[in-house]
Amino acid sequence: MSTCLFCKMVSGEIQPDIVYQNDFVLAFNDINPKAPVHVLIIPKQHIETLNELTDAGLAGQLFSAAPIIAKQLGLSENGYRLVVNCNKHGGQEVYHLHIHLLGGRQMTWPPG
Ligand code: C5P
Repeated sequence: MSTCLFCKMVSGEIQPDIVYQNDFVLAFNDINPKAPVHVLIIPKQHIETLNELTDAGLAGQLFSAAPIIAKQLGLSENGYRLVVNCNKHGGQEVYHLHIHLLGGRQMTWPPG
């Protein structure tokens, strides 16, 4: 049995607030949202960081899920932001690759 938190969400051992899924990706509401909409899009396969993402097809699955979810949540017109934190300097806390989808407010730049 995996000890990875997000793998437990994929297996159903922990039940996140799912907003979208297909055969390759799972997307759920972040437990500690940083914006009115804060969804995490993860591969169902365990991949630790963006550095280990070598499958371009899976990268496409992850990326192409974002506009589908954004449309579903009414973010398409005003826009939204995607963020991937990689390793220590990137601020990664959970070592299962994920894309943050943030929306519902004006984002600022640069990020902290
Ligand atoms: O990119 P980073 O690894 O820092 O992001 C991890 C994200 O996972 C955080 O936004 C955190 O709120 C979220 N999280 C979650 N459910 C948990 C633990 C963490 O949504 N049980």
